[in-house]
Amino acid sequence: MHFSSAMIVALSLAFSAGAVHTASAEPGRAQTIIRSGEQASVKGSETIFTGNVRIDPLYPANNDMRSSGGSVTFEPGARSNWHIHPVGQALIVTSGVGRTQEWGKPMREIRAGDVVLCPMGVKHWHGAASNRSMTHSSICEEKEPGKVVEWLERVTDAQYNGE
Ligand code: MN
Repeated sequence: MHFSSAMIVALSLAFSAGAVHTASAEPGRAQTIIRSGEQASVKGSETIFTGNVRIDPLYPANNDMRSSGGSVTFEPGARSNWHIHPVGQALIVTSGVGRTQEWGKPMREIRAGDVVLCPMGVKHWHGAASNRSMTHSSICEEKEPGKVVEWLERVTDAQYNGE
């Protein structure tokens, strides 16, 4: 492999930056493995969801990392209220078939393997298809501690059905 002088400089910088970081590694910092089943499932509140929804926490935000994650399972017909994320949201559909919609735009189908990026401040909802359940992982960054979503009104049946 041929390295240009620019690449060698970049590699040297990367190496020295890494060496400095390693030298200053703080005691007490280590990987965390949150074992499956350690965190209890929570039923989705009827005030912010329509239908049966289960939330399985994945990981909380901490002082170093501003995102938190959860796995959300919607039974057929279940969906969130309309809502807004102050810093945005990534949804990774892990199983089933679902629906999502931005305010003023058509409802769209989402399927296992799809990734939906919801920009900050955009009003939207997400949920299952009418005849299939849907599970997605949700990753949100906090704007301020604990603040990842602003909940709004319910999604009507007409909105849910794309009418
Ligand atoms: Mn959302």
